[in-house]
Amino acid sequence: MAKGKSIRRRDFLQLSSAAVLAGLAGQAAADEKQTGLSAVEEAAKRVGQLPRRKLGYSGREVSILIGAGDLPPLVAEAGILCGMNYWHKANRWMDGGAPESIRKNRDAHCCQVCVDRVGGDHYQGRLDEEEHIAYVQEAVKKTGLGYFDDMQLHYGYHNVEEVQQNKSFVRAFERLKKQGLVKHLCLSQHSYEGSPRVKNGQSATEILRSVIEDGLYEHAQIIYSFGADPQVDRFLQFSRQKNFGVIAMKTARGIGRMIQDQSFMEKLPAGVSPHNALVRWLTTGTDLDAVVIRVKNLEEFVDTFSGADKEVRTQDQRAIDIMTVEAGRSACRLCGKCQSRCPQHIPITDILRFERYALDDHDWHKASELYAELTTQADSCIDCRSCMQSCPLSLRIPEKLAKAHILLS
Ligand code: SF4
Ligand code: SF4
Repeated sequence: MAKGKSIRRRDFLQLSSAAVLAGLAGQAAADEKQTGLSAVEEAAKRVGQLPRRKLGYSGREVSILIGAGDLPPLVAEAGILCGMNYWHKANRWMDGGAPESIRKNRDAHCCQVCVDRVGGDHYQGRLDEEEHIAYVQEAVKKTGLGYFDDMQLHYGYHNVEEVQQNKSFVRAFERLKKQGLVKHLCLSQHSYEGSPRVKNGQSATEILRSVIEDGLYEHAQIIYSFGADPQVDRFLQFSRQKNFGVIAMKTARGIGRMIQDQSFMEKLPAGVSPHNALVRWLTTGTDLDAVVIRVKNLEEFVDTFSGADKEVRTQDQRAIDIMTVEAGRSACRLCGKCQSRCPQHIPITDILRFERYALDDHDWHKASELYAELTTQADSCIDCRSCMQSCPLSLRIPEKLAKAHILLS
């Protein structure tokens, strides 16, 4: 580890304080006791330096695996030692401020403010120039970052018409840019195809093609994981031609539940870890610029991030093939193609996204809270099976919904 990049004890203690403020005191204290300061440096050493790639037409070089404002503080610090320099959802640092190691070397990092619709959720809420401006100004102040590099529209647009007609978010960005508070415009785009909660919802790729043609946004986060998805692959080729940046999110489809299943794990080639194989493939076998992947502690950080930019070996490919078959049986791709078929207007994609939060991210609290907010839940299903005719994975949707209802209620 380069001397200049090692963590001073004072910074480490500040990190622990930040963890207390973030409600992670137990985890941080346990980590400190068990592993100490050297564990962060040791983890970083085992991962090594993360390579960088150009993100979009500005040509900024960002680490191939990006960080996020909700990463555990010790993992974030290990990431910084590995050269992690892009921070998704940096506004999460509004409680307690951004990590000191980022603030004191601010220009070496790209920090993104993720902005939601207002007056409702991402379906019913509206884009509002004044409120977006007020939110970003407050986030700049509370995080202590001075400015955000990227302003991201969280969840994206509902359809192409909204991209073309509603410029509220873009205007908010332009005004904030003049104030020196943001520099680049980006979005994360979900699919609203067939959504019962949005009028004329369209797929993520249809909407993003229009965003790219519009030329105002520099890069996007899209849902992307293993298993062939021709529509998304064609979009990736298109974005490459247009020099538009693409970051993959929700990349570990179904892996959280796979690694808890001993009989499944026994099918994998010896010595291969699902997350490590996934990262090898995402960073060397795809056209992506960067990837977001969740890790909860230093052990997962080493296992997962050490796959960055490493060759996909025969045994990794074999593992990915096995994982693809398993995910095809069990884990929704969130494409939304089933939605419009449902006579009961059940938000199938949402419910199966919440199921992923619970079973793969083990975030039961978030999953059940979101599920409780739905006005139409999975128990409205009448088992007509029309949705299954549109599912590219032929998932047994009614059975999955019934299980999800029990899990999340
Ligand atoms: S099986 Fe259930 S979820 Fe699928 S279309 Fe019919 S009612 Fe909707
Ligand atoms: S259930 Fe199938 S069709 Fe519906 S969103 Fe998931 S993968 Fe797509």
